[in-house]
Amino acid sequence: METAIKGEFAKTLSGMKADSIIRSCVHCGFCLASCPTYNILSNELDSPRGRIYLIKSALEDNNFSKSSIKHLDQCLTCRACETICPSGVQYSQLADIGREFLEHKRPFWQKIYRNSVRKFITNPILFNAIGWMFRQSKTKVNSVLKLEKKNGKVLLLEGCVQPSLAPNINNNIKNILTKLGYEVITSKQSQCCGAIDQHLSANKQALVKIKNNINNWIKLDVDVIISSASGCGLMVKDYRLMFAENDKYYQKSKEISSKTIDIAEFLADKDLSLFKKQDVKISYQEPCTLQHGQNIAGLTHKILQKIGYQLTVIDDNHICCGSAGTYSIFQPKLAKKLRDNKLNNLQKNQPEIIVTSNIGCLMHLQKGTKTPVKHWTELLS
Ligand code: SF4
Ligand code: SF4
Repeated sequence: METAIKGEFAKTLSGMKADSIIRSCVHCGFCLASCPTYNILSNELDSPRGRIYLIKSALEDNNFSKSSIKHLDQCLTCRACETICPSGVQYSQLADIGREFLEHKRPFWQKIYRNSVRKFITNPILFNAIGWMFRQSKTKVNSVLKLEKKNGKVLLLEGCVQPSLAPNINNNIKNILTKLGYEVITSKQSQCCGAIDQHLSANKQALVKIKNNINNWIKLDVDVIISSASGCGLMVKDYRLMFAENDKYYQKSKEISSKTIDIAEFLADKDLSLFKKQDVKISYQEPCTLQHGQNIAGLTHKILQKIGYQLTVIDDNHICCGSAGTYSIFQPKLAKKLRDNKLNNLQKNQPEIIVTSNIGCLMHLQKGTKTPVKHWTELLS
């Protein structure tokens, strides 16, 4: 697609990236069928190709309307379009650039509401207090084995919401890694990985958190950084894209991103015979951040099958469940429709437990069903 981004913005890192991404789109339209919002709303402007046109028009000629912001807000950033695109268009990076460009054009009340939600979610004191109350009423927390080093030293990213809302996930993973002979260092994240700020177009605030995390983690000198929340893992894997080559954080961000892997990638080649299959029928929900973002579709299925679980094929596995970071807060109707569709597909084989790889999907799906929803690693406890 031809493009002509003008002015000072064209010379910035974002401007140059946007130019190159827009040029890579050949407007073939293959992505339309894979897009959850196009499937529901049947409007080209709620498709990847339509949104690319909207962003191009805003960046080139400052030509946009209220509805441009609405169509960008309705995008889940699920990246299903990236998986299917034959030209390798990095749509999600362009969407972030377009959203940040249009952020200051929002009505005042929207800015206040979005900022309040962002500050609330990324405030560890408030969030931990709510998590503490949630745990008192619902969760029995498992104890953690004594940690010792044999095979190597790994950093387990605890995440900002996971320790509060579902502490057993991290505790179970620490126990699994310890049984496998690894020394586990945990990162008490006093702050988010930056994904929430980034999704809400507060890119400057995201960068502050990203730099802080890079500085803290690089000092630990671990072999591997493990994430068990696929949304956070994807964000940290993408740290390397946030800095220009002449930025002092460029090399450090590449090092952190290249060491970061999902827990499924870490366990894929390990001997898991220590862990016995539980006598329970499961369905697995594969988050978009794992299949379209981290490009490791099918890996968790293979591990679960190796342990002995029977997995049925889930219809529309590639379609988002509607969680998508803060999407379910700002787009509740679309998020609920996507969740209902996902749960219908997941529950066709009447599972006793639904398992997933991301805390956001877990909490979102659990709101729509009485069937317990857990992190898949809890099956190995
Ligand atoms: S599939 Fe890729 S190249 Fe084709 S219209 Fe969609 S984004 Fe553009
Ligand atoms: S990221 Fe997902 S919702 Fe957004 S345009 Fe691509 S497929 Fe559609």
